[in-house]
Amino acid sequence: MGNDGGSIPDRRDLVRSKKKAEQADKANQVRAMWFFCALSKRLLQEPIVSCPLGKLYNRDAILEFLLDRESFGAEGEVVCGHIRSIKDVKTLKLTHNASKSPPSASSSESQPERAPFVCPLNFKEMNGVQPFVYLKPCGCVFSQSGLRAVAQSNTAPKSSDTQPDGDEAGGADKPWLDLCPQCGTKYDRIADVLQLNPPPEMEQEMRATMEVLRSLEPVKSKSKKRKAAVAGDADQPAKKKAAGAAAATNPSIAAASRAVTQELAKEEARRKAAMSDAVKSLYGPKDGSKRKETFMTMGTFTRYA
Ligand SMILES: [Zn+2]
Repeated sequence: MGNDGGSIPDRRDLVRSKKKAEQADKANQVRAMWFFCALSKRLLQEPIVSCPLGKLYNRDAILEFLLDRESFGAEGEVVCGHIRSIKDVKTLKLTHNASKSPPSASSSESQPERAPFVCPLNFKEMNGVQPFVYLKPCGCVFSQSGLRAVAQSNTAPKSSDTQPDGDEAGGADKPWLDLCPQCGTKYDRIADVLQLNPPPEMEQEMRATMEVLRSLEPVKSKSKKRKAAVAGDADQPAKKKAAGAAAATNPSIAAASRAVTQELAKEEARRKAAMSDAVKSLYGPKDGSKRKETFMTMGTFTRYA
C-alpha cells in the first residue's frame, strides 16, 4: 500500500505510522500509571494511597515526601504539590488478582503483564484498560462498570430511608446515599466516586473540585469541637452546590446544626435580657398580645427606635 508508484502517500499514511509510535509510548505511560507509584516511580506496593486527583502512590513515598518536600526534588512538587498532609490521601482497599502469578523478575514484553489488582465486583483487571474508581469515604476500589452495575440495581427504594428529612433544596441533585458494595460505608455517588488515573480533562475537573472543597474547609483552631460544628454548618449550603449534595444527609451534620440553632437561641435570649425595657417592648414576644400591630407598623416603629 502506498509508495509503489500507484499512490501518493497522503497525510493519513503518515499520521498512521506516527500513531504506532504514539501507541507504544502510550502503553508505557499506562503501565507507568497503573503499576508504579506516581511519586517515587517504584512498583506499587501496599499500602497504596490515592489523592483527590486519582493518582496512585505508595503510602511510604507520600510519607517521605511530607517529611521532607524536597526529598523527590522538583518532581515531587509537580506530582504531589497538592498534597498537604496525609489526610489528603486515602489508603485504598484493593482486591488482589488471584490469577496473577508471583512476580517474575524477567517479565517479557511479549506477554502482557497481569495486573496485581482486580475489581471485586466483576474481576476486571486494574491495568488501565477499564476505568477504575475509588470511594472517598472508605477507599474501596472498583471498576467503574462494576460499581455502576451494582449502583443501578439498588437505587431509589432502599436509599430513601437513609434520607432523614426531605427538606433538601435543589431537587435536581440526589440527596440519598449509596452503600459501598464491599464494606457498606455510605457514599455519595456524585461527590464520593473518584476516578483513578483520570484522563487529562477529567483530572482538571477533579482539581477544580478539590480546590472548591478546600476553599470551603473550616479554618483550624483550638476549640475544635464547637468551631467545627459551626463551620461545618455554615459550609453546608455552598459545599452542597459544589460537590453535588455530598453530606446533605449526614446525620451528624443535622445534629450539629441543631446544636448551633440552640446556641444562637441562647445568645439571642442573653442579648434581649441586656436590652432596656423600652427596646425590649418592641421586640419582646411577651407583651405582644396587648399590642395589635401588624408587622408593617412594627417595621415603622423600629425604624425610630
Ligand atoms: Zn468500601
